[in-house]
Amino acid sequence: MNWNFLESWILNRAREKESREWHERIQREGVNPSYKPPSKIVIRLTCPKCNSDKIKPAGYADRFECEACGNIFI
Ligand SMILES: [Zn+2]
Repeated sequence: MNWNFLESWILNRAREKESREWHERIQREGVNPSYKPPSKIVIRLTCPKCNSDKIKPAGYADRFECEACGNIFI
């Protein structure tokens, strides 16, 4: 079993999904297509408020939300 192949396949699928969702959002919200948000697949961020590394996309614009304290930041 080639795990590297499997891993890149999964990553490609995730990227395709992210790209598809991005284009759906452009159609829905009319967002400037030339603007591309940073990839949300790999997130290595820390909360500026409580330094937690449990960060998830806030679901709008390019903001992120801290799961520990709820702080929303860019
Ligand atoms: Zn926090």
